[in-house]
Amino acid sequence: MKIPVRIKVGGQTIEVRKVERLDRNYLGQCRLAEGVIEVAEKYDRNTPISETCQINSFFHETVHAILGTMGEDDLNNNEKFVCTFSSFLTEIFLSIEYDTSNNNLGDN
Ligand SMILES: [Zn+2]
Repeated sequence: MKIPVRIKVGGQTIEVRKVERLDRNYLGQCRLAEGVIEVAEKYDRNTPISETCQINSFFHETVHAILGTMGEDDLNNNEKFVCTFSSFLTEIFLSIEYDTSNNNLGDN
């Protein structure tokens, strides 16, 4: 799975940027009012962050964007909830299998 460059959350366009690293060695950051999600590629100057960890960070910050848009401030500040929810999303998206046995597009 590739991390997208742009998503929409509640009608708001969110730019998704990969950055070399973030302050305090954060893995990701969501600035909802600015419409930006950043995903770090390095934990510190020398430690690359794995691709699946970056994908998890993308979903983590997306969950923050969703909860922030919903005004669910308590849940948005509950990192355990956000980590668990985003980990489920990561697992689902990384394990998606499609039926490739025919060309029936349009049917689920
Ligand atoms: Zn978080």
